[in-house]
Amino acid sequence: PETPRAVDSFESMELNLELLRGIYTFGFERPSYIQQHAILPILKGHDVIAQAQSGTGKTATFAISILHQLDYSNPHCQALVLVPTRELAHQIQRVILTLGEYLNVQCRACIGGVCMQDDIASLTQGVQVVVGTPGRVYDLIRRRVLKTNAIQKFVLDEADEMLSRGFRDMIRDIFQLLPATVQAILVSATMPDEVLEATTEFMRNPVKILLKTEETTLAGIKQFYVDVNRDEWKLDTFCDLHETISITQAVVFCNTRRRVEWLRDQLTEREFTVSALHAEMAQPERETIVQDFRQGRTRVLITTDILARGIDVQHMSLVINYDLPNNKENYIHRIGRGGRFGRVGVAINFVTEADVPALREIEAFFSTKVDELPIDIANL
Ligand code: ADP
Ligand code: MG
Repeated sequence: PETPRAVDSFESMELNLELLRGIYTFGFERPSYIQQHAILPILKGHDVIAQAQSGTGKTATFAISILHQLDYSNPHCQALVLVPTRELAHQIQRVILTLGEYLNVQCRACIGGVCMQDDIASLTQGVQVVVGTPGRVYDLIRRRVLKTNAIQKFVLDEADEMLSRGFRDMIRDIFQLLPATVQAILVSATMPDEVLEATTEFMRNPVKILLKTEETTLAGIKQFYVDVNRDEWKLDTFCDLHETISITQAVVFCNTRRRVEWLRDQLTEREFTVSALHAEMAQPERETIVQDFRQGRTRVLITTDILARGIDVQHMSLVINYDLPNNKENYIHRIGRGGRFGRVGVAINFVTEADVPALREIEAFFSTKVDELPIDIANL
């Protein structure tokens, strides 16, 4: 298929009027670049690979497409959205419910760590859109609680992550249980070549909207590093920064769950108010922590790569890489948690001597510049 032409208003997309009302009530005025280019190809039934920078509205791209094409008289699942984390499943469910408010859409987040009886009860009542994590969705399909025969759209958000080693086999298993005619939509801010090649097994002649690697970083996010020399000095550096940090909301990334807990404990001992989130915590606790952060009750959240992708919190303008990420793509995703939809953001990387080559590699790979943090950081 040819490169799609841009459609620069929601009206000219000829969307369902109740949907249009939902879009405007949500506060959207004009479609973003990816919305302008990807919605119509999806509505025409093409398989679509949609790559666009963090925070530029990829969720609404597939949400609007799904909501426009649902058969609201059919209570069965017609669209399946798979995501890597439970937190992201909830967030996307909320977007779909809000955009679809006047359509009365039935949308459920089906995720691990919660009682399956509730999924069963809800799906039996009728759910038109399922947003879920792969393990739970696969379980529900195998138990024939989630029926797949009416599913027409299959969305992989954070597609490169979903098709990477950890999830790939399960995604393939789920895909094989969907109707042969299902339309596949793959979305992410990063799309490494090896993942693009792997998409052929899910897609027929897809429309591709792609970025060059050097286009994936966002101009609105200023990137800095602090030379901490040795790992032991990170904590003091963090304490020095803390006052500045807590002016807005900040997310602090560490590379392991143990480090997250350790840092939380150290900071709590020093009477800083911080919260922490990682995948070993019980689901109700995870939900409370994310909710407190979303609503601004907590300002500094320490976490792992579990929150590196997709999470959208408006007032989160500062990202700290207490540890540099182990994977280049996740660097872009982590710093993309700040600076959502054109807002400005700041990312600060703590860099030990051993980290210098990795930081240089990130700069070269994304053709981006990471400057040393000025001493006078009050004016960032
Ligand atoms: P992405 O998935 O591309 O990283 P999101 O879908 O999470 O980005 O959207 C980022 C933010 O931009 C969200 O807060 C969303 O509500 C907002 N947004 C999306 N599309 C529009 C639009 N057309 N106009 C205004 N805000 C938008
Ligand atoms: Mg997203």
